[in-house]
Amino acid sequence: MSTPEPTLIQRIIRDDVLAMGAYHVPDSHGMVKLDAMENPYQLPPALRQQLADRLAQVALNRYPVPSSAALRARLKTVMDVPDGMEVLLGNGSDELISMLAMAVARPGASVLAPVPGFVMYAMSAQFAGLGFVGVPLRADFSLDREAMLAAMAEHRPAVIYLAYPNNPTGTLFDADDMAAIVRAAQGEVCDSLVVVDEAYQPFAQQSWMPRLTEFGNLLVMRTVSKLGLAGIRLGYLAGAPQWIEQLDKVRPPYNVNVLTEATALFVLEHVDVLDEQAARLREQRTALAAALGRYDGVTVFPSAANFLLIRVPDAARIFDALLSRKVLIKNVSKMHPLLTNCLRVTVSTPEENALFLEAFAASMQD
Ligand SMILES: *Cc1c(COP(=O)(O)O)cnc(C)c1O
Repeated sequence: MSTPEPTLIQRIIRDDVLAMGAYHVPDSHGMVKLDAMENPYQLPPALRQQLADRLAQVALNRYPVPSSAALRARLKTVMDVPDGMEVLLGNGSDELISMLAMAVARPGASVLAPVPGFVMYAMSAQFAGLGFVGVPLRADFSLDREAMLAAMAEHRPAVIYLAYPNNPTGTLFDADDMAAIVRAAQGEVCDSLVVVDEAYQPFAQQSWMPRLTEFGNLLVMRTVSKLGLAGIRLGYLAGAPQWIEQLDKVRPPYNVNVLTEATALFVLEHVDVLDEQAARLREQRTALAAALGRYDGVTVFPSAANFLLIRVPDAARIFDALLSRKVLIKNVSKMHPLLTNCLRVTVSTPEENALFLEAFAASMQD
């Protein structure tokens, strides 16, 4: 039997893209949605009205001001970016990760990150034609410093990502391990840019931002998504102006739209509201971890993020049982062997957490 002729699509689209599954976002209609680390709280009604008035003034007919100088200045102040450092804005930090990949994509270059970790590091590397080196964490999800240094020596990656705290594990890596990696990447073991991804900083309350001045090969990436503005798509990358200047060249010129810019400027005037929501979620994280920790056979891993990673006796069964009770969480058990039987649940309001715990109790007894 002869093999069928490739179709026009198959002759044009890259083989690795043809072979991929589409990024699957499950239907969450009518569900208690605890799968995506969203902040469950909205802005108070009075602020929403003020924001609506502000947005009504925005000139939708005009292109955004190139490079959003006002928003960058405001972010630097509110987010304590050290003096002398610059920021680059992205349409979510996902876009910043893609821009980084594009900027370093020399033939043979690679990106290195601990695994299990955030999937976009590997995906953006693949799309840009870069290699991806995943270095397994230890079984307790701490950084394996020796394995990281060995992989750095072997692969000499252009970029190293360290998510602080890490997704999907919630771990806050040891700062000395991280510093050793950043230092080793200053020519001692390899020449690499180290990007500390602080998507969950509001829940960790620890940051590498002040240490930007200490290391010439360090960038700190943040997003407003997990803080409560996932819908506006805004991420920022802070670091020495010499790095930002180069990365800015691959940025699509109008990547932050006028509505996002105006919304972010407004919300940054009221950042105390979001900080207070984050504080409530940190309290809820403690309560939820304690409640889940009472089950025999359930392990709750320490988390510095707005989600908990738990290990259950049978992740697929519990996930389905929760789904049948209209609770959507994330089954991460097939992502990596270290995550066998692990589920990830977003910390939400006391009401939604109670609904989850009720469904979880019933699911454990099915
Ligand atoms: C959610 C997440 C991001 C992506 O954030 P966006 O700004 O919404 O694109 C980046 N890094 C980590 C580790 C995340 O979990």
